[in-house]
Amino acid sequence: MSSLFPNYTRRPVHLVEGKGTIVTDDSGKRYLDFTSGIAVLSLGHAHPAIVKTIQRQSEKLWHTSNLFESPEQEQLASSLIKDTHYAHVFFCNSGAEANEAAIKLARKHTGKHVIITFENSFHGRTFGAMSATGQEKVHQGFGPLLETFRTVPFNNIEKLKAVIDESVAAIMLEVIQGEGGVNQVTPEFAQAIADICKSKGILLIVDEVQTGIGRTGTRYAYEQTVLRPDIMTLAKGLGGGFPIGAMLGTSELHDTFGPGTHGTTFGGNPLAVAVAQTVLDNVFTTEFLSAVNEKSTYFMDKLKEALPAYPIVGSGLLLGIVCPDEVAPYITKAEQAGLLLVAAGTHVIRLLPPLTVTNKEIDQAINVITSILPVPGTRNII
Ligand code: PLP
Repeated sequence: MSSLFPNYTRRPVHLVEGKGTIVTDDSGKRYLDFTSGIAVLSLGHAHPAIVKTIQRQSEKLWHTSNLFESPEQEQLASSLIKDTHYAHVFFCNSGAEANEAAIKLARKHTGKHVIITFENSFHGRTFGAMSATGQEKVHQGFGPLLETFRTVPFNNIEKLKAVIDESVAAIMLEVIQGEGGVNQVTPEFAQAIADICKSKGILLIVDEVQTGIGRTGTRYAYEQTVLRPDIMTLAKGLGGGFPIGAMLGTSELHDTFGPGTHGTTFGGNPLAVAVAQTVLDNVFTTEFLSAVNEKSTYFMDKLKEALPAYPIVGSGLLLGIVCPDEVAPYITKAEQAGLLLVAAGTHVIRLLPPLTVTNKEIDQAINVITSILPVPGTRNII
């Protein structure tokens, strides 16, 4: 019997090495990794710049706690907020923790307790983030949940308006629901949220744990909408594989998180910060983000051409193939054929290659996908 809790459904593959988009298992079999560790490896496996940073920083200083000042955290925060309307950053270790910080900040700042979230959202597994998540399967057996959250259908303006009252502190959403099915916020819904927040003095929290750090072709996904969040959360791609999370907020929120209000032992430790800085130095450039958009267009066009019967959804390199049946068997078949994929919900195949993926690797992945998806009209393109 395993010494681990069986809380994950693990695939029978033991990966032992990775370089760029390619990972190798313990039998020497090579796979194209189009999961990126669930949207984490922005620069792929073992990117030379990150390897160098870890080597350099690990010989210098790993951890100090937040008892001491940190010009490195200041620098990383500056890189995150540069050319945005945000003014301050809090560093933590994961997406769920970043969302916990956002929930606490919104409640303390407004003195109100209700936060509106959406069906099929995913915000993490800690108690607050789990209660915020709009998926029953995530809640099962853990009730009663926190009463803070009111969950309404995504992209439904009337249903959203119906739950707004004086007790609402914030609206919290993903611009693209990653776990819930690669569901994008519509321009009309984004406008409605922006209008409601402005007219009612409600804070807007955007969870960019999955969509942030170039994943959708811009630094942050909200930049492609009319939304102007008061609070934004990040994790996953920020560390490129090293655990780090962050919460960004506007200057109005500064005093709410005064000394002693919130904290974490590990958050923003020198090793994590050095790696995240290297990720940003590489990803937050016009050339890199243009390349992500070019690859996205290439990927989308080829998928649409090869799979005319399947809706292709998403943005940048967070794409989804919407299937009529459950996708789990296709994911297993793809794995056997050397392509690692992950589902979004039950009926969407999520495509999350490293942002450094090449067009050739995209072609190879499409070739596998078209060979496993059983539709009339599907054909191999290579
Ligand atoms: N928010 C979103 C949008 C996510 O996709 C995830 C993880 O999938 C989380 C929060 C939770 O992040 P973590 O697993 O780092 O706690």
